[in-house]
Amino acid sequence: MLLVGDAAGLAYPQSGEGIRPAVESALLAAQVIAECDGDYRCENLQSYVDLLEARFGQREPAPGLLDKLPAGFRQAAARLLMRNQWFSRNILTNRWFLHAQDKPLPPRVKVH
Ligand SMILES: Cc1cc2nc3c(=O)[nH]c(=O)nc-3n(C[C@H](O)[C@H](O)[C@H](O)COP(=O)(O)OP(=O)(O)OC[C@H]3O[C@@H](n4cnc5c(N)ncnc54)[C@H](O)[C@@H]3O)c2cc1C
Repeated sequence: MLLVGDAAGLAYPQSGEGIRPAVESALLAAQVIAECDGDYRCENLQSYVDLLEARFGQREPAPGLLDKLPAGFRQAAARLLMRNQWFSRNILTNRWFLHAQDKPLPPRVKVH
């Protein structure tokens, strides 16, 4: 069984946006299923995990610096940062919400 999208816990943690990871993980799953050519043993499906990690990072990365700061401090810093137009546009919207820095997945699934 291959899990995709929300079932695989892929929504972006900063924004909760999950449509793009749902579509992309489904494309990766389809690619791996097609490459199995009917032989769905675990080792043949393993490349799905590798592709997911390459695209979305490791499932449980160590807590970053931000996670270690007290919640009150983080909220105060967020209030301050979100008043800044450059931060709201470039970091919050483009990077955390839209993930504009991520290139589209290359088309790899062959349709017979
Ligand atoms: C209020 C809200 C707003 C959101 N806004 C955004 C947004 O603006 N941008 C964004 O990127 N993400 C947003 N998200 C997150 C996004 O909706 C999800 O991350 C995304 O839809 C996940 O897609 P999915 O295919 O994994 O799951 P889903 O879209 O949840 O699809 C799962 C499907 O499986 C069906 N299902 C469940 N159980 C069974 C069963 N037993 N048998 C058959 N079918 C079943 C469900 O009915 C559903 O249709 C939002 C989420 C919510 C709740």
